[in-house]
Amino acid sequence: MSVDITVLPALGDNYAYLVSSGNTAFAVDPSDERVVRRALEERGLRLDAVLLTHHHSDHTGGAQPLNRSTGCSVIGPRDRRLRGIDRALADNETCEVAGVPITALLVPGHTRSHLAFHLTTEQAVFTGDTMFLSGCGRLFEGTAEQMWRSLRRLGDLDPATRVYCGHEYTEENCRFACAVEPGNVLFGERLRAVGEMRADGRPSVPGTIAVEHQANVFLRASSPEAFARLRAAKDRF
Ligand SMILES: [Zn+2]
Repeated sequence: MSVDITVLPALGDNYAYLVSSGNTAFAVDPSDERVVRRALEERGLRLDAVLLTHHHSDHTGGAQPLNRSTGCSVIGPRDRRLRGIDRALADNETCEVAGVPITALLVPGHTRSHLAFHLTTEQAVFTGDTMFLSGCGRLFEGTAEQMWRSLRRLGDLDPATRVYCGHEYTEENCRFACAVEPGNVLFGERLRAVGEMRADGRPSVPGTIAVEHQANVFLRASSPEAFARLRAAKDRF
């Protein structure tokens, strides 16, 4: 059965996602219950589960309300700060939701227990606040070396893998990339293309791992030290 991934803008610049197969679905990082419920109703879908990449409330806000209203299960990292988790996934652990096989990848850096969800049969990955398109999350709990390794781990996925991240920060990230490498023609082209998308109100997601290898200065950093310098510069940008 074909699998559809719907992008659900929420809370300003967050992205929640609805993944459906047949008449069942799961949501990733359902920040806003109403946004997810509306999408379910419009499509006549039943919610099997919500998947949470990390404990920040702008990703988890809709999880408990959806659990109460639909009876869906809640799946996420093993972290005491996440309440109401029915199934905690460890690194490399797999599960199947709505008939879709999922592998959890532990990618610390933004938070220490952050997971990415790899849909192995769909060539898609949900990266939360670890990898953004042309960027990465802030280092709230992890070290630069952890985040550098986490990005490289995501970068090792098949280049055709589509990247669904947690926020629409792409244009700002492209602007930073152009400031880091002013002569990079590809960075300039990408900034223009993303600017046009955003001006039209279109989301920049999904990206692909292949494009990230070309356009993400954080993924391209050759060492943890180089990554740390870039991350510090971006924090001040
Ligand atoms: Zn976060």
